[in-house]
Amino acid sequence: MRIAQADTSVDTVLSTVTDFLKAPQVLLNGNSLTAASGETYPVYNPATGEILTRVPACGATDVDRAVKAAAAAFEGPWSKMLPVQRQGLMLKLADLIEAHGEELAQLETLNQGKSIMLSRLIEVQSSAEYFRYMAGAATKIEGSTLDVSIAIPPGMRYQAQTRKEPVGVVAAITPWNFPLNMATWKIAPALAAGCTVVLKPAEETPLTSIRLVELCREAGFPDGVVNVVTGMGETAGAALVAHPGVAKITFTGSTETGKLIGVQAMKDMKRVTLELGGKAPMVMFDDMDLDLLGAAAGIGVFFNTGQTCCAATRIYAQKGIYEKALEVIANVSRSLAIGSGLNPMNQINPLVSAKHQSHVKTCIARGIAEGATPLISASAPEKGFFVAPELFTDVRQDMALMQDEVFGPVVTITPFEDADDAIAKANDTRYGLGASIWTNDLNKVMRYVPKIQAGTVWVNSHNIPDQNMPFGGFKQSGIGREHGSRALENYLETKSVCIAYR
Ligand code: NAD
Repeated sequence: MRIAQADTSVDTVLSTVTDFLKAPQVLLNGNSLTAASGETYPVYNPATGEILTRVPACGATDVDRAVKAAAAAFEGPWSKMLPVQRQGLMLKLADLIEAHGEELAQLETLNQGKSIMLSRLIEVQSSAEYFRYMAGAATKIEGSTLDVSIAIPPGMRYQAQTRKEPVGVVAAITPWNFPLNMATWKIAPALAAGCTVVLKPAEETPLTSIRLVELCREAGFPDGVVNVVTGMGETAGAALVAHPGVAKITFTGSTETGKLIGVQAMKDMKRVTLELGGKAPMVMFDDMDLDLLGAAAGIGVFFNTGQTCCAATRIYAQKGIYEKALEVIANVSRSLAIGSGLNPMNQINPLVSAKHQSHVKTCIARGIAEGATPLISASAPEKGFFVAPELFTDVRQDMALMQDEVFGPVVTITPFEDADDAIAKANDTRYGLGASIWTNDLNKVMRYVPKIQAGTVWVNSHNIPDQNMPFGGFKQSGIGREHGSRALENYLETKSVCIAYR
């Protein structure tokens, strides 16, 4: 594996990265795509606030070209490939992601701002593993044979079977928090199922997605199988969702945008899966292992600078451990080093954009105006899109801090006495993506896990997905599940075939 140690600092950016940044090439059918309008837009380095490069601002015409390329590949070379050939290409792509691992990791950190350690471990390593996992699924698609009871006309006999068929061209729309990994979560099962893809990455973070399409070409995928269009959500994204050539939409992003996409998808009866926002609770019982408090805050709350859809943003700690939990989590919040993601010692990195930085600062100011008490009030570097961690007490259930997504390094902590009341408060949100309970009492685990309204409930951990563990939301956190071999169903149609014989 040609990737640096996860905790090695980046002192000099690789020349492959600086060369790529001079003129990123969005490939369409092997040729460089320029937007029909001729427009480009700037992509920023969140650690400095400076422009990193420019990419095409694609619109409806460009989206149309990409969907047509994907449709041609779906009808043409891709449909003729055997499952084992799709599997082989996906394994090759995984190897190429690893071989270019350090380059992809540096690109991601420069573009998204995150710790180089997370870029190496999650964006690169976990994405390579994800392609391998889904590659295995490509050769294990199966239907069933069915005995049926059809009695007409007399003397005729029947047997039925189900076939699984790829749904067609997939529109994959991704957010900015884990750009390469989110693209992988969508592209890998789609390819395994036999679909072709048009990927629309978040406008803020298109670079590793552009590079991924180049690597698909290098791996030997036929042109048109994996395509990318860069551009704004309201233009490129909306055009992709509405395109008649798209059969299925897979979206990760905000609940607000998810609702728009869901409505549009239903107009054309497109298949759709939505992974949306979250407001995850952490319920800490008196009997929990107090040695885990530091990790709970570090991984559960501040991982990726809080820009994680299932980050714990509401901690409920039982009275007996509340003071201790407050002390440890406040100490963690104060002690985290803030700075550029290129240095892995920095645990709080810039937020993705000036717009998002302003949103997080507004959430903090509103919390204070509503009467919550900030305990940290630390300063962050002036240059770049930084916000220092904040921990709030005295937060009521009806405050925006409890109800709305902040998506930054901001957390609330609230004491509780009655466990049923704490679970009710944990569920008192329109979201239902992730949650955790912390206890050494098996009885509490068995009693309370079923009562929590969330797609994933961790016990004595938080915020750790796995490719084999279904992931998605209850309530307004989405529709459908990603991960696991059943995720392929999102990209397959079931066809019943009824065969008559005498
Ligand atoms: P967003 O909804 O603004 O954007 C997500 C994507 O949708 C981007 O590619 C954007 O360009 C595109 N988009 C925006 N408007 C569109 C439109 N009208 N039509 C089509 N596409 C459109 O979200 P974001 O700010 O990029 O991401 C942060 C959000 O994502 C948070 O709410 C977070 O909770 C959520 N998220 C959820 C998960 C999950 O798995 N559930 C994972 C990561 C992030």
